[in-house]
Parts: sequence; C-alpha cells; structure tokens
Amino acid sequence: MDLSPETTAATPATEGYDFTSGSLCLDFVNTASTHEPVTGEDLHSYAHVVEWARQARLLDEEQVAALYGAATDDRSAADAAYAGTLALRETIYRLVTAAIRERPASDEDLAAFNSALTANLQNARVAHDDEGFYRMWRDDVLPFDRPLWSVIDAAAGLLISPGTLSRLRHCAGERCDWLFIDNSRNHSRRWCSMSGCGNRAKAKRSYARRKRAAPPLPIEAAGSPSESRW
Ligand SMILES: [Zn+2]
Repeated sequence: MDLSPETTAATPATEGYDFTSGSLCLDFVNTASTHEPVTGEDLHSYAHVVEWARQARLLDEEQVAALYGAATDDRSAADAAYAGTLALRETIYRLVTAAIRERPASDEDLAAFNSALTANLQNARVAHDDEGFYRMWRDDVLPFDRPLWSVIDAAAGLLISPGTLSRLRHCAGERCDWLFIDNSRNHSRRWCSMSGCGNRAKAKRSYARRKRAAPPLPIEAAGSPSESRW
C-alpha cells in the first residue's frame, strides 16, 4: 500500500479553508475549484478532511486527535473513508447544481445521497437540559465518517429548502465552480469571493478598458529615445 506523505493520515493539513458560501455543505463542496472534472483539490488525504471539519468547528480537538490516531492505526480504512468523502462531495455538487439548473437529479445520485442520509440518521439524538430539548450527534462512537455528519444533514436541509435554493448561485468566475447562497440585499452577488474571482474579473475588465482606451502606440515608442530622435 502506498504510504507516501499524501496518503499518510497522520499528516495534519495546515491550510486555511474557506467558509464563506453561506452554507456548510457548500463550503464542503467548495473544497475543489471545479467539478466534473475535479481540479484545484483542497482535500488531499483523510487528514485534510479531519482538518477541514476542525476548521468548520464540527469536531473538537479531542475528536481531531482521536481521528488522527485511528487513521494512523488503520490507514486503509482512513483511505477508504477519504475516497467516500470525495465521492459524497461530488454527489452533493451534482444534486445541488441540478437544483440550480432546474433539472431532475439523477437516480444514482439520489440513491447514493439517501444511503448516506439514512446511515447518518442513526447518529442523530435528541437530548434535554434546563432550557429544553435540543438536537445533538451521538458522542459514544467516533467513526471515520464523523466529519461528514453535519455536512450530510446540511445538504439534506438545503435540498428541501426552496427559499434558500432560489438564492443558490454558481460563481461567475472562469474555471471556478464554487457555489454560494446569495444573501446580498439586492441579490446581485456574482462571485464566490471578491478577493478571489471578483478581483480577477475586476482586473480583467480594467485591463480590457485600458486596452480599448489606449491610443495606438507611435512607432517611435517601440525603440529607445535615442533611436527615435533624428
Ligand atoms: Zn469563484
């Protein structure tokens, strides 16, 4: 089995993930720049999945350490969980984009998602304290798919929420498949982020404007001042 650093589960990732889509499941989908095919992958191993969930505040430090430990002990199970994570991410991407395009979702994708959802429901609990009942995840087990529990829950919530789906957008950036919920006041958000695709588009527009506005270069300007002087 390949135990290169890429697949060594105990190698913690250090990069900062983006959580600005307005939805946990879209933040998860946005861990790749494009889909179909995937490019700009940000989850390179099971350790990255755990790190993403830590940054999303889905796991506490104790759970993170325990999952790293379990992944180090059973790398093939961690690798299988990693492959399952990426497959689920692409399934959610296709389901969500079917909603954006107002096309029916594929039976295969729905079956795959529903299988994950069914398994996930076994982890949901209702608890009670002084303030009343609340929902929580079981804490007596810590399987490799633990980082995904809230993601699957959020994806199911998004897919059945027409109000939120109507504000679901695909980034207008070139070579960017990031998805986000447009919560802007006049529903005019076009970019995954102004610092990323928004800035790139702005720079491109201003370059095109400058190019259009610039007068044709005099031939002399191509040479040095001494050459252009008679
Ligand atoms: Zn973008």
